[in-house]
Amino acid sequence: MRINEMFSESRPVLSFEIFPPKRDGDVLGVHHTIDVLAELKPDYISVTYGAAGSERGMDTVRMASRIKREHGIEALAHLTSIGVTKKEIDEILDIYRSEGIENILALRGDLEVNAVPKASDFKYAADLIAHVKQNGHFGIGAACYPEGHIHARSKTTDLIYLRDKVQKGVDFLVTQLFFDTDLFYAFRNEVRSLDIEVPITVGVMPVLNRKQIERMVALSGASLPDKFKKILEKYEHNPVALQDAGIAYACDQIVDLLSTGVDGIHLYVMNKPEVAKRIVSNISGIMSSSQHRKTP
Ligand code: FAD
Repeated sequence: MRINEMFSESRPVLSFEIFPPKRDGDVLGVHHTIDVLAELKPDYISVTYGAAGSERGMDTVRMASRIKREHGIEALAHLTSIGVTKKEIDEILDIYRSEGIENILALRGDLEVNAVPKASDFKYAADLIAHVKQNGHFGIGAACYPEGHIHARSKTTDLIYLRDKVQKGVDFLVTQLFFDTDLFYAFRNEVRSLDIEVPITVGVMPVLNRKQIERMVALSGASLPDKFKKILEKYEHNPVALQDAGIAYACDQIVDLLSTGVDGIHLYVMNKPEVAKRIVSNISGIMSSSQHRKTP
């Protein structure tokens, strides 16, 4: 099923994001994560992609295929285009298709620190999106950034490029994580004022430890509201308390977001299914009684 069809129902779409095992990593651990997440009956589960490497792409394929075939849950396979040729992308698209994957999150990706840039047929995600659209077999999602992409020249240019990306064939958008919901509302208003009408599902990341959040903030440039900083300072040396507070903060964000009728909630669960379980049990009643703007 194409994920964009899910947004035509009146309730918000619930999804989780996981990452595949690192090479020689804990495959069974990721299988367990998928098993537990599947019990929570999300609309779909997305699987991240290691930029610049078709072998790493195979880990994404294996996990996405497992989600779909063993659990009957729709999978969203991420795909990045930095340092990749059209031929390599076509090979991976063929594999996705043969594994029954129908939905792709099309991204530019980032070069690893100190990596030597490789020849690429795609400069921006928009180029990959146009190519996947031409292929014709996939529903297409793309990333968006409520606070602007960390390397964007300005928020305004970032929005113009977002519109360009959507016009190339995007069916729905998934946001970068953020901790200040007001910034998302302002972003959504700007997006809609540019006549970008595709559904926007909102990425929420529960904070589980200080190191994780510092890394994510360095990568994304997300701003931290005072309330959030106080939680980090107060509980940073007490992992159990910080996890409880992080889950409570994420739930608070979700309740706020649902009350304004967001199209979907995408939980960055960091392969911690127990955390997803706690969040879902806190918000399930609210999710099922919430309505969102139906796709036009
Ligand atoms: P783009 O949309 O191409 O934008 C990148 C930058 O280029 C922006 O600053 C934009 O303003 C600018 N830009 C766009 N078009 C133009 C143009 N025509 N001229 C000049 N500038 C332009 N990374 C991974 O490696 N693997 C993953 O699985 C992964 N999953 C992600 C999931 C989500 C939901 C999000 C939000 C991000 C994810 N990322 C992932 C990170 C992502 O790859 C990086 O944020 C990357 O830097 C940008 O990717 P993009 O697709 O948004 O790029």
